Amino acid sequence: ELLVSQIAAGEVVERPASVLKELVENSLDAGATQIDIQLHEGGVRLIRVTDDGVGIDSDDLPLALARHATSKIASLDDLERVVSYGFRGEALASIASVSRLSVTSRPQGAAHAMRLRNDADTTEPAALSSGTVIEVADLYFNTPARRKFLKTEATEYAHCSDVLQRMALANPAVAFTLSHNNTVRHRYGPGDEESRTRTLLGDDFFAHARRVDVAAGELRLTGFAALPAYSRSGRDEQYFYVNGRFVRDKLLMHAAREAYADILHGTRYPAYALFLELDPAEVDVNVHPAKIEVRFRNARGIHQFIFHALQRALAAPIG
Ligand code: ADP
Ligand code: MG
Repeated sequence: ELLVSQIAAGEVVERPASVLKELVENSLDAGATQIDIQLHEGGVRLIRVTDDGVGIDSDDLPLALARHATSKIASLDDLERVVSYGFRGEALASIASVSRLSVTSRPQGAAHAMRLRNDADTTEPAALSSGTVIEVADLYFNTPARRKFLKTEATEYAHCSDVLQRMALANPAVAFTLSHNNTVRHRYGPGDEESRTRTLLGDDFFAHARRVDVAAGELRLTGFAALPAYSRSGRDEQYFYVNGRFVRDKLLMHAAREAYADILHGTRYPAYALFLELDPAEVDVNVHPAKIEVRFRNARGIHQFIFHALQRALAAPIG
């Protein structure tokens, strides 16, 4: 059982940033409005995520760490229409198999918080006003072969920061803080799509961006796309989301590049933050555990929709 989890962990938990992504997604699924992240040594020594979400009943704490236990999917039918980030119920079990993990939680109305460590059989009372704290310490301490693949502290931290920025962009109403080795590095207050995009992509992006908001049937594309006058910073600024999930999908990126083809010449990449919303039954997010690629039922239709929506937004007169 431990071995199975460790093998699964190889897929889900590539590095500290993948752990962080799973923990923050759980906090978002729990309806958190404030999520605080503390990292030490690039997240290898410690990743602590504190949220003000609904919490976990003390009876359910052991389940949270059990393989294939999810509170989010009740039937196969639900799997067709996944709206929460999580649905496999294997992230925490996988992470727990390659780290020292503890879950401390206090749902609304509970007399006090309870904590469960992955190396103990029983829960113990703990201090926490409400919400959930998950600590992942010493990642890969028991699988040295994996630990060897980790890069420098600065690189692992940079991946964590990227992961947070991707999730923060799609969840503007949620406040986030990120600290590394006890220094606050990012602080995003609660806002709307516009203010969060400005915070994350910068004033210069925003000054040269067109708002996108196009709907056709059950498809909707919103967000911001920069005009060619914006010269990007050098980092990749192609943020594409499908039903709130960040994806790097060939089909979507291709459709976007085509829409830019007439105005953006040469080898330059476009810069955008785009959010595609569609019926969850029309998209399979189950392709890969890291869930960064997706499969559309009607790929051609999606490609055409993105292309036309974006081309129209980019060509609209300024004002
Ligand atoms: P999944 O997200 O696919 O359900 P996970 O292994 O990520 O699986 O989490 C297992 C379960 O633990 C979740 O279904 C949820 O019930 C609970 N859980 C994990 N993190 C939190 C959190 N921050 N707040 C509330 N519940 C949580
Ligand atoms: Mg999850």
